[in-house]
Parts: sequence; C-alpha cells; structure tokens
Amino acid sequence: MRIDVLGVGFDNITMDQAVAEGLRLSQTEGAHMVVTPNPEIVELCREDPALRSLVNGADLVLPDGIGILYGAKLLGTPLRQRLPGIEFAQALMAAMARGEGTLFLLGAKPGVAEEAARRLERTYPGLKIAGTHDGYFQEDAPVAEAIRQSGATVVFVCLGAPKQEKWIAQWGPATGAHLLVGLGGCLDVFSGSVKRAPRVFQRLGLEWLHRLMKDPRRIGRMMKLPLFMVHVAGEKGKK
Ligand code: UDP
Repeated sequence: MRIDVLGVGFDNITMDQAVAEGLRLSQTEGAHMVVTPNPEIVELCREDPALRSLVNGADLVLPDGIGILYGAKLLGTPLRQRLPGIEFAQALMAAMARGEGTLFLLGAKPGVAEEAARRLERTYPGLKIAGTHDGYFQEDAPVAEAIRQSGATVVFVCLGAPKQEKWIAQWGPATGAHLLVGLGGCLDVFSGSVKRAPRVFQRLGLEWLHRLMKDPRRIGRMMKLPLFMVHVAGEKGKK
C-alpha cells in the first residue's frame, strides 16, 4: 500500500521488504525502476506533472528523507520507517554478493565510479561489477548500449534528481537491466570522495544539515524543504 505525500505515493514497507522486492524485480523480465524521493523531489513533482507520474509509476518509491516521514505523520498517515537510498543500495549489494546478479555503476565525475567499484568489490566479496561509466556524457544511446553489452542486471543511476529518474524512464529498457535505482550522490560516498554524515546526525535526522555545512552551495536547493513543510501544513488544513 502506498502513502500519499503531496501527490507522491510512498511504499510503506520495511528495509528488508524493500530489498527482497528489489532482488525479486532484478530477476524479473522488464526494466524496473526504484526511486528514493526526498522533499526536494516531491516539490519538483508538484511543479512538473510529467515527473510526478514518472515517479509514481516506479516499482518502488522509497521515502529517503526525514522530511517525508514528518510530512506523512503530519498528514495523519505515518510511514513505518525511513528508507535511505544509500542504505537500500548497501543492503542490495550485500544480498547480490551472496546470490546472483551483476551491477553497473553509472554517474558522478570521471574516475569516481571506477574507484567506487574497486572499494565495493572489497566491501562485498562476491559482488560482481559488470562495468562503470561517468555521469557527464553527451549522448545517451551509447551509454545504454554499454550497459547492455556489460550484461548487468542492476544499475545504480547516480546523475542527481530529477535527471536520473528521467534517464531511467527513457533509457532503462534499452540497457537490458531489470532493476535501475536512482541514487543521487551515492557513488561519491562509495568512492570515498564524500563522507556520509556522522551517525549522530543520521540518528537525529539531520543528515541534510551536515551536507549543507559541507557544501553551503546547496542552500538554494534546500529552500525547497521549508516550502515542502508549508505545503504539508496547507494540505493538513484541508483535511
Ligand atoms: N551528476 C552526474 N551528471 C550530471 C549531474 C550530476 O553524474 O550531469 C552527479 C554528481 O557528480 C553527483 C550526483 O550526480 O555525484 C548528484 O549528487 P547530489 O548530491 O546532488 O544528489 P542527491 O543525492 O542530493 O540527489
């Protein structure tokens, strides 16, 4: 069952269920999409109905940000738990390392995906990385073809939102992969070029604040967060 937060339906499931479903989809014919929207993306969906239907059409819609949890709670339809995209990716890789499937890493600056691949293969012995490609390409078709040639069943698409969601919707089927996951800045973390917030920030739901402190240029994007809360309050008022 999905829980609606300002027009985006989120799967109300646990991390274990999300990973089990991700694995199942990765072994099922067709190109399946996983998205992990935060309040910023929900706001983008409010402005862009085509993006909204694309996001709602995904096979898994995971609530990445603490803001989504607050929003759902304020609207009287709480979600069970936060499902950060990066933790979903880690759990999925651990499961893939024990079982079948191969992974392609797409996105970030040149060199980052390769370094991430080296580190991930060490962290998850048995994980098979089929290939990598940076996220600053001009033509899409050759990239989709490279993924097809690699034979990957799962692709982490890390181009930032909403570019990655649009890319998956348009090019996912051409890659031949069964599961494509939009994961923003995850490759920067997996490669060691960016550190994830300390645990205390994660526990308090303040990961966004840590990212803002590290990169103050994010402030423009983060102004969408108060806007999101205003819209949630407005929606609650209508109920
Ligand atoms: N990126 C990319 N191609 C682009 C634009 C961005 O590969 O055309 C990468 C960028 O290098 C970074 C990621 O996409 O690794 C976006 O990271 P960000 O932290 O902005 O994403 P978020 O997790 O906040 O969605």
